[in-house]
Amino acid sequence: MKVTDFFTQNPGKTHMSFEILPPLKGGSMSDIFKMLDLLMEFKPPFIDVTYHREEFVYTKHESGYYEKTAIRKRPGTVGICAAIMHKYGVEAVPHLICGGFTKEDTENALIDLNFLDIKNVLALRGDAMTFEEKFNFTPGGHAYAIDLVKQINDMNMGKYLDANIEKGNKTDFCIGVAGYPEKHFEAPNMDNDLLHTAEKIKAGGDYIVTQMYFDNQKFFEYVKNCRATGIKVPIVPGIKPLTKRYQLAALPRKFFVNMPDELVREVNKAQTDAGVLEIGIEWTIQQCKELIKEGVPCIHFYTMGDGKTISRILKAII
Ligand code: FAD
Repeated sequence: MKVTDFFTQNPGKTHMSFEILPPLKGGSMSDIFKMLDLLMEFKPPFIDVTYHREEFVYTKHESGYYEKTAIRKRPGTVGICAAIMHKYGVEAVPHLICGGFTKEDTENALIDLNFLDIKNVLALRGDAMTFEEKFNFTPGGHAYAIDLVKQINDMNMGKYLDANIEKGNKTDFCIGVAGYPEKHFEAPNMDNDLLHTAEKIKAGGDYIVTQMYFDNQKFFEYVKNCRATGIKVPIVPGIKPLTKRYQLAALPRKFFVNMPDELVREVNKAQTDAGVLEIGIEWTIQQCKELIKEGVPCIHFYTMGDGKTISRILKAII
């Protein structure tokens, strides 16, 4: 079933969905299954699985020379999606990125997903690789998420890269795209970023999932601005509980988000790690209660491997 169908079939209901990361290479699925076993009682309509492109790694040789190699540290996105659908009968949403993919690679990946009966994808650009200053598009690939959305939309209309394919099988992917309540860090301003988000929707995007944020007002304002820009699709807030003191600085550095003063003050006052965790959980519970009251179609949790914390939050809000 498509992500957007869950929303239209249950108007007024706030679903709970999750994002998980593939294990590091060499790891197994058991930790993921343990976490999902814990979260299944909350009946997620879908589970997102992130995609991680290759990273450059420098290995020092005895001579002092550094060898640069590219490795993918978290492969397995598609396999995990198939495993989740098979084990739990829940829709899995693979993230698909532009970086590292030629258009041909993307087409073949989409064919795999279609054959696996995966109905949903989240179309993203991806970030710069480690040791690269900015995102450089892969030769023969896409520069922006909108180009990826267009390619998926083309396949939904039976249009493949090979113009000789006349009656290509039409895929039927529901396409999610990313949105940024606090602006994407590269965008010159919010209006410009919103314009590009609106273009992704016009090109075939069916819904938006937002970057994490910690102040609901930013989300409400974002939704208002999206609507004013003509974006009509469902907008799903992305939520990450703060669980550790170092995240006060680490999350803004990595995800370009702001921490509200009140949350910073509370965390700084906490005497212990356990105290920080309780503050983070309580903060998220209040965020979620307000979002439910506002009637958001879904709350999307960035689990980051911590199913126990998410489970505690969900028990407090449902
Ligand atoms: P885009 O929509 O292409 O936007 C990137 C920037 O370019 C923005 O500043 C935008 O305003 C600007 N822009 C867009 N179109 C144009 C244009 N035509 N001309 C000029 N400027 C333009 N990354 C991963 O590697 N793997 C994941 O699994 C993953 N999952 C994510 C899930 C969510 C919900 C979110 C919010 C992000 C995720 N990311 C993931 C991170 C994402 O790849 C980065 O935030 C990336 O920097 C931007 O991706 P995008 O799809 O928003 O890009």
